[in-house]
Amino acid sequence: MELIFSKSKQGKRGIKFPRVDVPVEVKIEPKYKREKLAELPSVSEPEVVRHFTNLSKKNFDVDSHFYPLGSCTMKYNPKITEKLASLEGFASLHPLDPQLIMGGMLTQGALEVISNLEALLCEITGMDAFTTQPMAGAHGELTGIMLIAAYHRNKGNKKKYVLIPDSGHGTNPATAAIAGYEVKTVPSDENGVMDLNEFKEALTSEVAAVMLTCPNTLGIFNPHIKKITDAAHKVGALMYYDGANLNAIMGKVRPGDLGFDVIHLNLHKTFGTPHGGGGPGSGPVGVREELEEFLPVSRVVKRKDGTFALDYEKPLSIGYISQFYGNFGVMLKAYVYILLLGKEGLIKASEIAVLNANYLKVKLKKYLDVPFDKNCLHEFVASVSHQAERGVRAIDVAKALIDKGIHPPTVYFPLIVKEAMMIEPTETESKETLDEFIEVMKELALLAEREPDVFRDFPKTTCVSRLDEVKAAKDMDLACLS
Ligand SMILES: *Cc1c(COP(=O)(O)O)cnc(C)c1O
Repeated sequence: MELIFSKSKQGKRGIKFPRVDVPVEVKIEPKYKREKLAELPSVSEPEVVRHFTNLSKKNFDVDSHFYPLGSCTMKYNPKITEKLASLEGFASLHPLDPQLIMGGMLTQGALEVISNLEALLCEITGMDAFTTQPMAGAHGELTGIMLIAAYHRNKGNKKKYVLIPDSGHGTNPATAAIAGYEVKTVPSDENGVMDLNEFKEALTSEVAAVMLTCPNTLGIFNPHIKKITDAAHKVGALMYYDGANLNAIMGKVRPGDLGFDVIHLNLHKTFGTPHGGGGPGSGPVGVREELEEFLPVSRVVKRKDGTFALDYEKPLSIGYISQFYGNFGVMLKAYVYILLLGKEGLIKASEIAVLNANYLKVKLKKYLDVPFDKNCLHEFVASVSHQAERGVRAIDVAKALIDKGIHPPTVYFPLIVKEAMMIEPTETESKETLDEFIEVMKELALLAEREPDVFRDFPKTTCVSRLDEVKAAKDMDLACLS
């Protein structure tokens, strides 16, 4: 195959486009050409439509079901964000189109969206600079810890460890290890937050960073947070904030004001795009001023004449961490979401998320154990350990919920709670929906007392029942769904 390239041109008004070669015509050698027409199956349009419509009905989705999936937040995903993100002018942008090279006149609107979004995220989190390039929460974490490593290297600091509480999201220790640090796990105390004495003991001058989720995965806000950030800074460690679920504190508390130095957010949890299904995601990273020079290239900058450009001249940058500038569609949806809700709307979203989680916690305590029974923020963790004594485990209750038309909460996480069920109702659900969920949980708790054995057969309403989940992921057989 031979690709014919066009040469990119000098832009109008003296703006220089970077040179990018783009294939404009493809010549295929005869030996690769097919000799006879492909025997494609022929089906009518209604058959195709029916096939895909029926397949889509087998999906469990937030548009048709309650989805209290702790930590992974299928929250408010307004349809208007989808509509605006699919506007022709945005959706048809291609970063390699010679006329549209980022920085050229035709991408000014897109660059302005990114620049404005970065500024809004700074304001919401109390950080000085943001990059929107990382494509997932875990990707943001890795970028953040690489920034911390670059900062220490630049200062000549000898650092070895990252401290993470035992309630941390699994991606936290994985990130620290991939970035080359040794992980020290700090146990939680009886209140479900990082044990302050154990933390102080582990905090030596060799600690590069402390990674915290606050509120943590139990939905509990750490009351000692200022003491922790102050103590870390005293030994030259930086504070990393896992802000995947910022809906717990959005508009109420700014991680920057608490003393955090680096933060990642999940736009695909908190800001108008659903998580789950594997993407697309966006995990922007915010930093304090001292870390800005290490941010990945390129950076969106505003020129003196008010136009926008991409700046690659960052000698201390950690380099490229994604192609082009990340997942623009998700950024656009976050931008629309923030403008749509405004300051008051963001605050209200957090308040109702917290109210809904506490309402469920108080009501469900009658039927499930709640090991760390504090006032929670956006989510709480219940335990099915009482029912497990009769052979009904968290996974069984989760499967039974599917038959009741409810997406199961996150189960078996965090690891510090046995038979954990992590429940996050989000701010979008009405009291009626929450009350229906409470009724279903009550019904299942009674069933577990009377007929524990029936749980083995759930779910009964789905086209497949219990799967070997590891095998299903590694050896996918989609044909069984049709
Ligand atoms: C979801 C989540 C992550 C990881 O985000 P991904 O986009 O799934 O990589 C990290 N930390 C916490 C607390 C999360 O809830």
